[in-house]
Amino acid sequence: KMKKTIKPELIIALDFNKLSYAMEFLDQIDPSLCKVKVGKELFLAEGKKCIQVLRSLGFDVFLDLKFHDIPNTVAKACMVAADLGCWMVNVHVSGGRRMMEAAAEVYSSLRNPPILVGVTMLTSLNEIDLKELGFVSSVEEQVKNMAQLAMTSGLKGVVCSAVEARFLSSLMGENFVLVTPGIRLSGDNLDDQKRVVSPVEAADNGSHFLVVGRSLTTVSNPLEKVLSIQNMLRNRYESENSS
Ligand code: C5P
Repeated sequence: KMKKTIKPELIIALDFNKLSYAMEFLDQIDPSLCKVKVGKELFLAEGKKCIQVLRSLGFDVFLDLKFHDIPNTVAKACMVAADLGCWMVNVHVSGGRRMMEAAAEVYSSLRNPPILVGVTMLTSLNEIDLKELGFVSSVEEQVKNMAQLAMTSGLKGVVCSAVEARFLSSLMGENFVLVTPGIRLSGDNLDDQKRVVSPVEAADNGSHFLVVGRSLTTVSNPLEKVLSIQNMLRNRYESENSS
């Protein structure tokens, strides 16, 4: 086997409308087990306080606001996110090269900047949705093109479906960070996600960070589920790298 399987890390999407719900959820979950993601819902409800509180508990925070605006506006927002101590920040690749370059530029002078990644295609979109939006290429072509644009614009990686991680990891090289939402455990509800993959498949496909939301946040035994995901990943990693 040529390619070494990497053991991806878990990012839990804290999609709650109150910080107290997120805190309750994290009550049993230790920062050594995962990183956390703050998205639009929690951020709009609680603001920067939630980043400060989560950091003070020892969590690395991915601020998932998917910036998409003119270069100056995005660059300035990215700077504020860095000041808040975010570990990872994202922008939409569809904001274009100059927007991504402006964001990357503000981080280039920082000693310990957030990891800047670009959103390729939302994992809730499928081929039919793309047609409707007027895209002429396939999901794969589109994602490939966007990942290359992100890389040459100075981003450290992309958010993509774990389905696409497979070809992106060989195309972009192992240092280009692949963050993959749309993860479901067997038996889970798909909800609004269209392109979903299991944690082990995502790992096999070369994902560096698995974003898991509702499969953990809507269950009664999240710690058990987190530990079981970690176990599956560890077993997979050990069997792959010993053979
Ligand atoms: O609940 P679920 O596991 O579907 O949550 C996935 C999370 O990842 C959500 O917070 C969603 O906003 C985010 N996300 C996504 N697809 C992208 C980028 C981010 O689902 N392309």
